[in-house]
Amino acid sequence: MQTFRYSKPSSIDQALSGAPAAKFLAGGTTLVDLMKLNVEQPQTLVDINLLPLSKIEHLPSGGLRIGALVRNSDLAWNTDVKESYAVLSQAILSGASPQLRNMATVGGNLLQRTRCAYFREPASGTPGGYGCNKRTPGTGCAALQGLHRTHAVFGTSNQCIATHPSDMCVAMAALDAEIHVQGPKGKRTIPFADFHKLPGNTPHIENALEPGELVTYVDLPKPVEGARSVYLKLRDRASYEFALASAAVVVRIESGHILYARVALGGVGTKPWRSHEAEAELQGKPANAATFHKAAEAALAAAKPRTDNTFKVELARRCLVRTLKLATA
Ligand code: SF4
Repeated sequence: MQTFRYSKPSSIDQALSGAPAAKFLAGGTTLVDLMKLNVEQPQTLVDINLLPLSKIEHLPSGGLRIGALVRNSDLAWNTDVKESYAVLSQAILSGASPQLRNMATVGGNLLQRTRCAYFREPASGTPGGYGCNKRTPGTGCAALQGLHRTHAVFGTSNQCIATHPSDMCVAMAALDAEIHVQGPKGKRTIPFADFHKLPGNTPHIENALEPGELVTYVDLPKPVEGARSVYLKLRDRASYEFALASAAVVVRIESGHILYARVALGGVGTKPWRSHEAEAELQGKPANAATFHKAAEAALAAAKPRTDNTFKVELARRCLVRTLKLATA
């Protein structure tokens, strides 16, 4: 790990004054790991834990505002979240360990970086090391011909096929969350679907944040009346493991028909993967197994697996069918 300057301001304006060269430190569960691996080498760390961003508040619209410093555990166990946004609570509790969830923040979870082994290998992206365009643009992608069993089947490019690791983000994609940010140029709001970037030719650019911008809040819209939501995660072991495939579903049923459906997939995309194709198949249809199978077919139709992750297509298909059954049972 390299040396760095450290500050701990108590206001957002003070925190932003070091931007854009500084990195913001919240729970540290991702950033400190990556600093130890030399993936992140900030010259200045701005510890934002004193900023007033730790509340969960009701919005006049009926939605919920979640401060960027709210700990994952506090969000998952919040009564309003458990009752009205169950998919979010379930997604968070399926990730990491209790100790990590007690430290990790909402803002940090949004900015989680991939678990691709080449990305985290200390020598990757250096001469003689594995190629990793995300670490060092232009050095190649060792995963294309190497280990890619856990990699993405959606949103990939010939520069990077790394999977987005967050569970929380999959639920937020299905919930149509909005992300508030503040930076040297002022405040703005980013729809969740636009926050994470596809790798394309620039896999090192992972999100829509401008240099020096800080995530301040995440807003959830008013819950859909009568809707039920479920998150289901499939993985190699039952806890403390990243998703091979997961599904977040929000559905409202009336008289046996699906009147509202939101679907997102995790573990399979280079970003949290909203499936408008599945939603279109579900909308207005009878809530039965035949509909769910058609929706899952539609969701996975455009998947592009590679040699070692072909199994993810069938796994994600079954995961989505199962999640829809649970949400409509
Ligand atoms: Fe790097 Fe992405 Fe390739 Fe992994 S998949 S080696 S993160 S470029």
